[in-house]
Formats: sequence, C-alpha cells, structure tokens
Amino acid sequence: MRATVMYGAGDVRLEDVPDARLVEPTDAVVRVTSAAICGSDLWPYKSMEPSETGRRMGHEFIGVVEAAGEDVRTLEDGDLVVTPFLWSDGTCVFCREGLHTSCLHGGRYGDEGVDGGQGEAVRVPQADGTLVVLPVDEDDALMPSLLTLSDVMATGHHAALAARVGPGKTVAVVGDGAVGLCGVIAARRLGAERIFILGRHEARTALAQEFGATDVVSERGEEAVERVRELTGGLGVHSVLECVGYEESTRTAFGIVRAGGAVGRVGIPQYEALPMVAETFFANVTIAGGPAPARAYIEELLPDVLEGRIEPGRVFDRTGPLDEVPEGYRAMDSREALKVLVTP
Ligand SMILES: [Zn+2]
Repeated sequence: MRATVMYGAGDVRLEDVPDARLVEPTDAVVRVTSAAICGSDLWPYKSMEPSETGRRMGHEFIGVVEAAGEDVRTLEDGDLVVTPFLWSDGTCVFCREGLHTSCLHGGRYGDEGVDGGQGEAVRVPQADGTLVVLPVDEDDALMPSLLTLSDVMATGHHAALAARVGPGKTVAVVGDGAVGLCGVIAARRLGAERIFILGRHEARTALAQEFGATDVVSERGEEAVERVRELTGGLGVHSVLECVGYEESTRTAFGIVRAGGAVGRVGIPQYEALPMVAETFFANVTIAGGPAPARAYIEELLPDVLEGRIEPGRVFDRTGPLDEVPEGYRAMDSREALKVLVTP
C-alpha cells in the first residue's frame, strides 16, 4: 500500500510500504477515506534529523473497518470510524478518568509497528477503546468537520476547558492556525461573550470572526499585550487559549490574562521553561493544558457537528490525493494553506 514517510526536515515522500494487517487480537485494520496534515506534523518537517528508515506520518483520519481482531467487540467490518490522534484502551485508570492521552496501554500513530494516517490503510491498536463509529456514509458532506474531531476541534475544545471558558467570559485566542480557529468555535460554544483572535493572516482572522471572534488583534508581542489590555480596561481577559507553542506566544498569553484568570496551553512547547513565573504567580493565574484527550471529547462534540451547530471543517482550504501530501506539507509550512485534507 501507499503511505507517507518523513525522512528528515523538508523530506516527505509517498512510498510503497507493507500492507496494514492485524497483529494483536485487539487491532482493527481501517481503510482510510480521508486524512489530514496537522500543524504538529510541521514541527518535524522543520527540524527532524535525517533518518534512514524514516517515520510514518499522520494521526488524523476517518476510514472504514476492513478487518477486526477476534477480541474486538464494538466494531464490525464496514463501520465508518473516526480516530482520536492517539490510540488508547479505554479501560485503564487514566482512560476512565477521561485522560486517554496518558493511557497505560496507548500510543502514537507512526510509532514502531503502527501505521500513520496519511496512507491507504492503518493498523489501529486497541480498536475498541480508540475508534468511534460515525452514523453517516463515507461521502457525507460533513466529512471535513467530522475529521477535525480527530485532533484540531478536540484540541481547541481542550484549550477552552483548560482556560476555564464559560458564559459571559472574555477570551483571547493566541494563534490563527486551525487549532486557534477551532478554539474560537469552542469558546463561542461554551458561552464566551467576547473573543479576541490574535493573528495577522487576514483570511484566517476573517474566518475566526465568522466562527464568533468579536475582536481581531494583529499586533504581536508587547504591542499585542498593550492592545488587549487597552481593549479590556487595563485588566486583561479571563481566559487565554495558547495555540502556538513558542515562548513569545506564551509570553503574550501570560501578558494578557487578567488576575485570577486561566491560560490553556495546547501548542506543543518549543521552549525549555515557562516564562514569567513570578508575574503569573503573583496574579494567581492558572496555567493548564497539554495534549487533548480527543477520545474523551469526540462523543460530546459529535452531535454539534452532525446537527450543523459548529462547522470546524471550514478550516480545510485545500484537498488533494495522497500523491500531493508532500506539496501539502510545503504549502502549510509556508502558510499558503491553512489545513490540507487528503483523500487516498
Ligand atoms: Zn487507557
């Protein structure tokens, strides 16, 4: 079968690899019908050391169950399923607490022996605990929005929960990538009254406004902090969703949160230590976040997608076949494309 392999920074290839197959009795093999390139795929695309064996890529996909191991109870051949970006058993102490990202028997797509989602098919470990059956056909018009439940919509929701967004709150979203835009959707969905989007890419901040952002702040760094402070009577905002992961964007987030407020961090940290520890300490700021337990959120967000209350699939602005995956990485890395949907 064909699948995406990354061999180093800027070196992504489509290759023939061994077919996905059942290994453990708890596995399922899923034929991928749609997949996505993630902003987090761009970190290795920028910095991965050259590798002779390469790394299989992709952790956001929807597909059809083609085979299920003998211990799989909840899935049947032909089921259309969405996966969270990590696999998990659904039964360990952390999964039962809703923290599937810390599953004691879970792992990542693309790791040794596990396929990536940017390919024709995937061996999904712990299939019962991982996959969620979708009540639609594979050509349903909702597919882009359903695909965001794998990662970006769940991650935006996680950022909003970590930032304690709620009715009447003033919220700021740092970052106008797909996660930031989904963070706007999540904040609106949770009842935020005023939502700032911090970003300078006009098409993206315009989409953020359609998703419910009330104010666009295109300044960066200190100027952005001053601008948000000025627009909030000097106080700052109750909730900040940090959706980038750089030290500078984290400084911005900490600079605009008001005393007693909360910052939800979902950008993978590209820095060694948190900045501004004294300022955030003395202002009683809550700092929370991490990788989203998407598996815990899919069932909660799914009705809103199915009934059209949220349309996170609008973050996809490019669609192409598997052969265009390398071009998709290039386009996302150069910010020509916001998010790329792949149809194997
Ligand atoms: Zn678990």
